Amino acid sequence: MEANEPNRSGIVMRGIGVSPGVAIGPVMLIQAETVSVFERPIADGAVADEIARFEEALIETRHQIREIQGALREQTHSHDASIFDAHLMVLDDRTFIDEIISGVRERKRNIEFVVQEGTEKYAGVLAAVNDDYLRERVADVRDVGKRILQNLMGSAVAKRIQIDRPHLIVAHDLSPSETACLVGEQILGFAIDLGSPTSHTAVMARALSIPAVVGLRNISVSVVTGDHILIDGNKGVLILNPTDEQLQTYDELAEARRNIEVGLQRLRTEPAITCDGHSIVLSANVEGENEIPFVQESGAQGVGLLRSEFMHLSQNRMLDEEEQTRIYRNMADALAPHPLIIRTLDIGGDKCFFNMQPFKEDNPFLGLRSIRLSLRYPDYFRQQLRAILRASVVGNIRVMYPMISGVGELDEADAYLAEAKRELEAEGVAYDRSLQRGIMVEVPSAALVAPILAAQVDFFSIGTNDLIQYTLAVDRGNERVAYLYEPTHPAVLQLIRMTVDAAHAHGIWAGVCGEMAADPLMTPLLLGFGVDELSVNPRAVPLIKDAVRALAYHDTQALAQDALGGLSVKEIRSRSRQLIESVAPELSDWLS
Ligand code: PEP
Ligand code: MG
Repeated sequence: MEANEPNRSGIVMRGIGVSPGVAIGPVMLIQAETVSVFERPIADGAVADEIARFEEALIETRHQIREIQGALREQTHSHDASIFDAHLMVLDDRTFIDEIISGVRERKRNIEFVVQEGTEKYAGVLAAVNDDYLRERVADVRDVGKRILQNLMGSAVAKRIQIDRPHLIVAHDLSPSETACLVGEQILGFAIDLGSPTSHTAVMARALSIPAVVGLRNISVSVVTGDHILIDGNKGVLILNPTDEQLQTYDELAEARRNIEVGLQRLRTEPAITCDGHSIVLSANVEGENEIPFVQESGAQGVGLLRSEFMHLSQNRMLDEEEQTRIYRNMADALAPHPLIIRTLDIGGDKCFFNMQPFKEDNPFLGLRSIRLSLRYPDYFRQQLRAILRASVVGNIRVMYPMISGVGELDEADAYLAEAKRELEAEGVAYDRSLQRGIMVEVPSAALVAPILAAQVDFFSIGTNDLIQYTLAVDRGNERVAYLYEPTHPAVLQLIRMTVDAAHAHGIWAGVCGEMAADPLMTPLLLGFGVDELSVNPRAVPLIKDAVRALAYHDTQALAQDALGGLSVKEIRSRSRQLIESVAPELSDWLS
């Protein structure tokens, strides 16, 4: 493939933007590393040498992991480096080491072969154990095993890759240690075939403030080293060999975006109120404690969605009750008097621990994910509810259950909450007795029975990311059907309206925390349906506040009414665009 064939210029690909910003530069393609090991008999006299080689490889591997961990700590100033503590523990595990040493002695086979077999055997045993923590160690064992093999075989990939010029990294997938080998000032961005916002590349890219787009499906076979790419981590867009025109457009866009964003900082302390006096709450979506300063800078009125699973996913281990309590307290304290809405674990679908689910599902988005997983395996759920309750004496904490599909699940979840309260009472531990609890409305069935659910909870938060995929039968992460993923589909809008109306009829509030809330094109519609709260990523807060303040509530109500009166998807979009552009033309570049 020639890098600069004319037909390979200016090709636009879409993935998932997981770390914001624009990066442009040459590609460094990281090929998937496979280690080929052959079985070879060895003489009795060679056994000691093979064991000595193994011991040297262990020392070398430990040294490399410590080096990576140290570098990562320095560069990120965050806890992401602790992922490698688990790797170091594998290296110190006598069961693993003794198994390999006795394997060489007894079977008289080359050390590479025994290490590979021993790694798989050990991983297999852990995968079968009925203990979630141990099962989560399988990926660590495999990663460490591969690194030991690379050291035994003198492979260069185990070492830190020196990148002497600025590059964008393109790969099919990257393991934690591969990603960490690559961190450095010369990395401009990541573009990855696989992955979701929970992948390690995504976690590390965010920690390093490096733009990243994942879920690009086949970028690693579409580029060659020498190609140039442009990635937009906000929009999840990649342009292969951008044309001069595209580059210039992007340059101008980036500059214009920056200027407008800087200008909107003046709204930080202003309320989110329409020009005719209708107020809403504008809050922020976060994944962890480290984002609280951004929430405060953005002027958001608290956190409308803490995706609590990310605190565990980013460390690839489950935090215990104490750790969770501490984090929730710190966050609530920093945000007070504004609320901290903690969504209970939402694992499964696209958010998986390496081995958290003890089964593989063909259709994980319709499978045992989210609240279903919590109710089936309630240990973590119980622990989290206790942590939330214990922390609730500080600030303004609220709890929210994800993916509730009907009253049965809500009742079951509530039973665990009641049990946790009883336990704490028996232990004499204080908690907020008026703790508010709400649900995410992200399954169409919940919207359809919203009047019944509204009678039982304190608030609704509409998760449009999932609501759209389930209503329209469009996988939210599948590029092939992305053209059908349409927030302005009248069926989606109808469900939003029903949910908000049901909430208001029962005197509770309804917010929107899906990505739709962060798109200023949707602000007129959501306001018009009477949504009380919009929860968006901190960076989008000033943009949405600008949109709200520029609009008149009565215009948005008229638009919302028309939208459900038979307009097509295109007409709804264009009417909403006209309205927002007429009052806030500065937001044009942020409209979807
Ligand atoms: C949603 O589904 O809209 C939502 C906010 O939850 P998540 O994106 O974490 O599934
Ligand atoms: Mg969701």
